[in-house]
Amino acid sequence: MENWEVRAERMVLSQIEVRGIRDGKVLEAFRNVPRHLFVPARHRKWAYQDSPLPLEEGQTISQPYMVALMTFRLDVKEGMKVLEIGTGSGYQAAILARMGAEVHSLERIALLARSSSRTLEELGYPVRVYHRDGSDGLPEEAPFDRVIVTAAATSIPPAIMEQISSCARVVIPIRLPDGNERLLTRIIGEERYRDEWGEYCRFVPLRNGIVR
Ligand code: SAH
Repeated sequence: MENWEVRAERMVLSQIEVRGIRDGKVLEAFRNVPRHLFVPARHRKWAYQDSPLPLEEGQTISQPYMVALMTFRLDVKEGMKVLEIGTGSGYQAAILARMGAEVHSLERIALLARSSSRTLEELGYPVRVYHRDGSDGLPEEAPFDRVIVTAAATSIPPAIMEQISSCARVVIPIRLPDGNERLLTRIIGEERYRDEWGEYCRFVPLRNGIVR
């Protein structure tokens, strides 16, 4: 795609910055990660639009602003160990890697785990993708400083709360009893945690088991 950097810059200005995300490191990542290379070829020309797009297997790559919002809420710093549940296209993982995080990402659908892992590798993002059910977390790499779940659940999977460091954060879309979904940020301290409820959103559901 010609001029993708120009499109990415426009996306940052007109979709992300105007909606209040001003964190320089977040914006820098969105300017530099080629979103069109994470989108299926037939949707590529819409990659920098203000909307989610379909992936293989009925899944979706989130709207750029939603990825930015979750990244901002996650508050990642260079060198942090981050667990992502729901690799999908790999775009969110690439953004986090670009910000200097050590990213481990879990995907239950084999085809998506393979294709995202290939894209990330080709572009040089050091993300480790695993074909796993994310509800179990990744015990062998725990503890994590940050956990981001990019599929909707009714609550934070219990395994996750056992695999975080003592000052961690979890960002996850929660499906409420009324069917609406809201972004939850759990901020964990030494002895207690605090929940911050954010924007309404719409994600594909977190499902059990893996698809081969
Ligand atoms: N972060 C992605 C968006 C992915 S959509 C991106 O940037 O493109 C949500 C993804 O979560 C889908 O690919 C879906 O297969 C995956 N998923 C759903 N339940 C899961 C689970 N239990 N474990 C791992 N991945 C899961």
